[in-house]
Amino acid sequence: MTTPIQQENPFTKELFIFDLDGTLARSKTAMDSEMDTLLSQLLEKHHVAVIGGGWFPVFKRQLLDNLTCPESYLERLHLMPTSSSRYLRYKNGEWETMYALELTVEERKLIADTFEQAFKTVGYVHPEKTYGELIEDRGTQITFSALGQEAPIELKEAWSGSALDRRQEIVNVMKPLLPEFEIKLPGTTSIDITRKGVDKGYGVEQLHERLGIPINQMVFVGDALYPGGNDEPVKRTGIEAIPVKDVEETKTRIRTWLENMG
Ligand SMILES: [Mg+2]
Repeated sequence: MTTPIQQENPFTKELFIFDLDGTLARSKTAMDSEMDTLLSQLLEKHHVAVIGGGWFPVFKRQLLDNLTCPESYLERLHLMPTSSSRYLRYKNGEWETMYALELTVEERKLIADTFEQAFKTVGYVHPEKTYGELIEDRGTQITFSALGQEAPIELKEAWSGSALDRRQEIVNVMKPLLPEFEIKLPGTTSIDITRKGVDKGYGVEQLHERLGIPINQMVFVGDALYPGGNDEPVKRTGIEAIPVKDVEETKTRIRTWLENMG
């Protein structure tokens, strides 16, 4: 007797959660029209949440500006930018903040000062040519981008992991100085700092509590579920977590679900 292929039960899922960068859209790029169609079909009857590292303006540029579903579907779309330190829903024609774990002025100053201190301690020198801001205050998250926020992706990829990439050393100095904060290395050139305990797992827990949807009725899709990846924290919630290597694999996944929904 052959062992049947393990089927997930897509019919029963109430909430589909996706990472944004590298999962719904290529890094720093707008979601394409194929993904728009698939997400729109999913949103017709299901709740969809997007938990990403970027802040809301990035969600707007990458996701919302390219999502063409009827406006009424947006009521089922849940946005969690900056690693779910903010949660927005579409109500009365606009995106309303459900919660925002803003950093205080003192916390922001402490983080900025600690960056400077860490750069000095490890002898880190900023590149001569940078693109846009190096340290960006996103309200609920402070993000350092070594080459600047607007650096071309090819340059970032070349820098990442090279001898110039000293993020790990910088973070090693910062961690003991900022025990109340979460310090992460997402993407190719960034360091993200949020309040401790705020990660994508927190987002899943918040969706569970606020929507009353059981964790086993949710599924999470992300390109960084590997150990140390910024999607990995969702695993502690026990959610069904599906790793994808790129946007195309996410599309295949959604297509399969849609086909099996009848
Ligand atoms: Mg990603």
